[in-house]
Amino acid sequence: MRRYAWVRRTRRAAVAMGRALLKEPGLVGRIRQDPAATSTCIHCNRCMPTIYRGTHCPIAQAGS
Ligand code: SF4
Repeated sequence: MRRYAWVRRTRRAAVAMGRALLKEPGLVGRIRQDPAATSTCIHCNRCMPTIYRGTHCPIAQAGS
């Protein structure tokens, strides 16, 4: 838990958005427009095998 010490020290929130941004690189902008917006990532982990050949979201590439 040592690596999270800066979170406790600064009292700032840490947010993980890795897969969500793979699915939708413009997500931050969409949330800025609509704070109630949510990620379209379906947490299927089909992106995991792509980490050795150019990490990407196969679902997004398929157009959904
Ligand atoms: S493959 Fe699935 S888990 Fe990975 S970013 Fe795309 S929708 Fe999300």
